[in-house]
Amino acid sequence: MQESREPQIAKFGRDLASLRNRLVRPVHDVPVPLARGGDDTLLMLEELEVAGEELRQQAEELSESQRLVEAERVRYKTLFDDAPDAYLVTDSLGMVREANRAATAMFGLPREFFLGKPLVSFVDSAARRAFRQQLDLLCGHESTAEVVLAFTPRHGSERRVAVRIVRVGVGSSIELRWILRDVTDLHRSALRIAQMNVELTERVVERTEDLTRANAEKDALLESERRARADAEQASRIKSEFLAVLSHEFRTPLQALFGYAELLDSGVHGSLEPAQREDVRRIQLGLTHMASLVNQILDRASLDAGRLSLDIRLVPLDEALESLRALMEAQLATKGISLEIAPAGPPLAARADAEKLRQVLVNLLANAAKYTPSGGHVAIECSATGETVTIAVRDSGIGIPAGKIDAIFAPYVRLHQNDRPSLSSGLGLGLAISRDLVAAMDGSLTAESVVGVGSTFRITLPRAIVGSRVERSA
Ligand code: ADP
Repeated sequence: MQESREPQIAKFGRDLASLRNRLVRPVHDVPVPLARGGDDTLLMLEELEVAGEELRQQAEELSESQRLVEAERVRYKTLFDDAPDAYLVTDSLGMVREANRAATAMFGLPREFFLGKPLVSFVDSAARRAFRQQLDLLCGHESTAEVVLAFTPRHGSERRVAVRIVRVGVGSSIELRWILRDVTDLHRSALRIAQMNVELTERVVERTEDLTRANAEKDALLESERRARADAEQASRIKSEFLAVLSHEFRTPLQALFGYAELLDSGVHGSLEPAQREDVRRIQLGLTHMASLVNQILDRASLDAGRLSLDIRLVPLDEALESLRALMEAQLATKGISLEIAPAGPPLAARADAEKLRQVLVNLLANAAKYTPSGGHVAIECSATGETVTIAVRDSGIGIPAGKIDAIFAPYVRLHQNDRPSLSSGLGLGLAISRDLVAAMDGSLTAESVVGVGSTFRITLPRAIVGSRVERSA
């Protein structure tokens, strides 16, 4: 309507000018009295002309404003059309009135077919009723929070669309302005994450159940292990007590047998034939061996029962080793094994129980004698650091396999009884007792060996300074 007003005003101006021309010419041609009346008319025409000019100016201003408004409208339309988000305008029933390019692309229809279509036609038939109800609800608010609706575009699969609606107008002139965002991928990711969460929760529950089960099993195992250990400890106690009693019972007749053998040997009951003397010697050897076994069993039993008593004093090593020579040299010599005790250099002393140390050394030398073939060699040497002294007993015997070194210190472990039946005497207790005795004296007993070359056993004990006074009993 505005556009047609400017030509009308221009036409009105032109008509006015031609009327004025027509009136001016006859006025100059008529006599003066008449011309005076004509002047009034001319005056009016002049005024009309001025009014017409003003009108024309206003019309020009109006059309300029119109042009500006139109330019703005085109700009906003372009913005609306080219916006990356989808915008729709519908009536209150969801009938599409306006749609930008993104919206037509979202619903898969060219604009001309899309306009006038109800949005419900893009909703799955089963969900249409709910959609209409939702639309009614949304119309009740001026603007809504974002809701996610499901639309199926033409020739496409269902999409999830996040929608915000702004309501403009009231009653029948309600206009709904839709801002739509395709969130299908987001929705799928959210579903996937939810699914993963469910699976994760299930796995956590499963693992927790597994753990609970494993814990219960572990507790049951621990309990049965505790019971087994208690049973084993009790059995070991009973065994030790039994062995202690048994050994004790053995000792008395053994002492008597030693006494009688001694009597026979001394010739109190008449002198002995050489063969009889040899038999008595064999009896004595057998008794000595038996007494040593009984003593070992007794020692083991008292160590197990924690009944070991120690008399810790300063023990000069030279003295200890010389008395050992007196005791063992003959035994080694019968097997053709030489014994060498290297002088300790400056006098060395250990803080130890002299009797227990002697027992350990006798045991090591007896083993050296047992596991060294005749013609072999045994050497003892001492050394010291600031805090400790070490006595090394080295033999050139059959040796011990590398992997078995630790095992030989366990009670009742014997390595050579199968391959060398001649070495089968013994209980496998000597080294176990020796290690425990040395440990009780705050020392250590270790071994190293090369099969076929020989073995070295080392007793390390706390060092005592010769001349000082050391006393401790335990
Ligand atoms: P036993 O000598 O009564 O068998 P031990 O506890 O003294 O028991 O020794 C355990 C095992 O260690 C022995 O059976 C033997 O196999 C091995 N053994 C000990 N000393 C030596 C050694 N000097 N040389 C080689 N093997 C040894």
